[in-house]
Amino acid sequence: MAEARLATDPRATRRPTPTVDVGGIPVGSRHPIVVQSMTNTDTADADATAIQVAQLAHAGSELVRVTVNTDAAAAAVPDIVGKLHDLGVGVPVIGDFHYNGHLLLAKFPEAARVLAKYRINPGNVGSKHHDANFQTIVRVAIENDKPVRIGVNWGSLDQQLLTELMDANARLDDPRDSRDVMIEAMVESAVRSAELAESTGLGHDRIILSAKVSGVQDLVEVYRILADRCDYPLHLGLTEAGLGMKGIVASTAGLSILLNRGIGDTIRVSLTPAPGGDRTEEVQVAQQVLQSLGLRSFLPQVSACPGCGRTTSTFFQEMASDIQGYLRERMPDWREQHPGVEDLRVAVMGCVVNGPGESKHADIGISLPGTFEEPVAPVFVDGKLDRTLRGGRIVPEFLEILEAYVDRRYPAAGAVTRERVNPAG
Ligand code: SF4
Repeated sequence: MAEARLATDPRATRRPTPTVDVGGIPVGSRHPIVVQSMTNTDTADADATAIQVAQLAHAGSELVRVTVNTDAAAAAVPDIVGKLHDLGVGVPVIGDFHYNGHLLLAKFPEAARVLAKYRINPGNVGSKHHDANFQTIVRVAIENDKPVRIGVNWGSLDQQLLTELMDANARLDDPRDSRDVMIEAMVESAVRSAELAESTGLGHDRIILSAKVSGVQDLVEVYRILADRCDYPLHLGLTEAGLGMKGIVASTAGLSILLNRGIGDTIRVSLTPAPGGDRTEEVQVAQQVLQSLGLRSFLPQVSACPGCGRTTSTFFQEMASDIQGYLRERMPDWREQHPGVEDLRVAVMGCVVNGPGESKHADIGISLPGTFEEPVAPVFVDGKLDRTLRGGRIVPEFLEILEAYVDRRYPAAGAVTRERVNPAG
């Protein structure tokens, strides 16, 4: 029986939006959902920030945000963009402004010129001169032909607006829950700010909105309402998602529900890295969320069985990890030289129970011996048994077969000679 496409398939039901050009990257419903990330270096340290932006871009971040919080940070921005240019990294750099954005953008016009987008938090542009400060940033954006993201965050929600809505709610015969008022305040803050930006002269297609909270159900609710209230592209992210597995699971849960409803045009996974941890993990998670939902392809997908009592040695885990690591390491080159390779499906299975079956469904797969199986590893290519590997070189031999398969299946536009699996020969 033919598999029916789900009615909620986000590929079929993406919420329509205008397209916003962010430094050459189109954001909106007619374009792929964009992965973005943010540095955690001191922006005033131009070398460290340029290196981390380059690392994030290399990992696949299509937009990278840097905080611009001081004179020194704003002064460093042109230097950072220049260093990235020298490194051959063209990723658009976004400035994240809070409290003093109106002052910094006016005082450092070169920073305003080289940034690809400005993020404004309407909750902290100042209470006394809120609208004037907000409009100053918008006018700089108009002068420099830049888009803005109006990024509401529940941790810095516009307190005047929240008080106004709370007071109005208190006067109702049947007041709503304070959570509902908070969500309404976030949506109102985003929508009213967008209206103010447009009335100041910014184009409708120069605005992206976000409204981040740290609870999954709150996130889903606030974006559901926001998506109904406007047609601006939306940037999704669970703010303060947290450390490690908790942050990954919570972000994945929240983003997946929304993306599967067709809501969301850019995403960021806000993980707290472990001390000395890899900042690019947030890019890898964001990519994996989109790829798991069938929305984009970034990396050949590995189907690996969980292992069980039939794989009591560590050989199977090491092999699965080695192959996954190899694919990630090769992707920057493969992406350039073998268009389409991101759709490759690889199976790495622990034993003959499900190994041959799963491997046949992949483009290329290997089924390991299993602890108590005969020490042989059948390799399947395009659903057919290709050969059986034996001995101590099962992994490198499989990687050689994988390289040859990629060469054959995803041919380069022109012949390219390069060293392969074993550059040393
Ligand atoms: S394929 Fe084999 S090793 Fe893997 S989980 Fe199934 S029975 Fe266990």
